[in-house]
Amino acid sequence: MPKFYGVDYYDIASLLSEEELLVRDTVREFVDDNVLPIIEKHNRAGSFPVDLVRKMADLGMFGSTLPAKYGCAEMNNVAYGLVMQIRSFSSVQSALVMYPLYTFGSEEQKDFWLPKLASGEKIGCFGLTEPDYGSNPGGMITRAEERGNSYVLNGAKMWITNGTIADVAVVWAKLNGVIHGFLIEKGTKGFNAPEMRGKHSLRASVTSELIFQDCTIPKENILPKAQGLKSPLMCLNQARYGIAWGAMGAAMACYDSALAYAKSRIQFGKPIASFQLIQEKLVGMVTEITKGQLLTLQLGRLKDQGKVRFEQVSMAKRNNVYYALEIARTAREVLGANGILDEYPVMRHMANLESVKTYEGTHEMHTLIVGEDITGIPAYI
Ligand SMILES: Cc1cc2nc3c(=O)[nH]c(=O)nc-3n(C[C@H](O)[C@H](O)[C@H](O)COP(=O)(O)OP(=O)(O)OC[C@H]3O[C@@H](n4cnc5c(N)ncnc54)[C@H](O)[C@@H]3O)c2cc1C
Repeated sequence: MPKFYGVDYYDIASLLSEEELLVRDTVREFVDDNVLPIIEKHNRAGSFPVDLVRKMADLGMFGSTLPAKYGCAEMNNVAYGLVMQIRSFSSVQSALVMYPLYTFGSEEQKDFWLPKLASGEKIGCFGLTEPDYGSNPGGMITRAEERGNSYVLNGAKMWITNGTIADVAVVWAKLNGVIHGFLIEKGTKGFNAPEMRGKHSLRASVTSELIFQDCTIPKENILPKAQGLKSPLMCLNQARYGIAWGAMGAAMACYDSALAYAKSRIQFGKPIASFQLIQEKLVGMVTEITKGQLLTLQLGRLKDQGKVRFEQVSMAKRNNVYYALEIARTAREVLGANGILDEYPVMRHMANLESVKTYEGTHEMHTLIVGEDITGIPAYI
């Protein structure tokens, strides 16, 4: 497969620092050499390429913005965004496990878990969604009860990325009616994490149920600084930022594939790239990619300045995932029948983006968040 040099119509690279460019190129090379040769095989088999975890850790891809004393790369948010262009596993590990530990954890929890998660020695997952509570996680049923020196958890989570392979689950449950975060280690009695099967999307990623039946954990496993729905939402905001970048990564791969194909596929005696209708599709794709890139870059700069608002993150997640999916669908059209083959990355990205449009806040929920921000009127119910 030819090397991927990225899509940069507006010379956005000139807005990146040397360090950011190095991070981008390192990750790109890693994907070329280690991910692309095996990803379709795993996608077909519905298996997770677990061997990649340590290699990703060696590149500093987990918890990349956290301090070096925990074994993390201490990157800025733009460099982290560039890493997240190939996200999913790393986004959960970084934004949904390491971030809550770092933000809400005790010193002991941080010292124990963060270096192990950064090195890929341990894997984590984030359990918020329940079978009956998706967009409305505040209604969750999972409960924790205080019993002597322990907490006892009962309930179930669903759709949890990495659940079955995780060594530690960050689980959100109500304690006396208030949402708190708990660390549940693999193998704890009363805790099971069966894998969910039958997915047509994110097939190379593990998705699981988490089941708690009188699951008893020591009191020190509560995240002491997390309280209320705001805490898991802060984690999701962190992950959504990565998703906005990741969606553009997928979109660039689809555009790159469609452009190369259009230039080489001959119909009516000419490359299909010479037809106006095909050019119109390609121009639409590269324009939306360029807009999405500028959106995420400015978002990253605001984040580095400590000025970003969660509604701005919602706008970028909503926009970039929506257009990435449109780009994947359009790329599939350009490739004709070949577009459905796994010899090309397009259909895999398209199927994956269907999930991405739903997780970390659905497209609709982000519309309502930005809608409330600009009108001052909440329209959720
Ligand atoms: C592959 C995959 C991995 C995932 N990984 C994780 C994970 O690691 N951890 C985790 O906790 N969760 C995870 N999720 C769950 C994900 O976050 C939820 O699926 C998402 O929040 C939506 O919830 P739901 O599927 O129950 O849809 P619902 O909330 O039932 O929504 C169904 C539809 O109704 C719409 N809707 C709902 N309320 C409103 C409203 N007020 N106004 C307008 N429209 C509305 C939604 O936008 C959607 O279109 C994952 C999901 C997938 C598919």
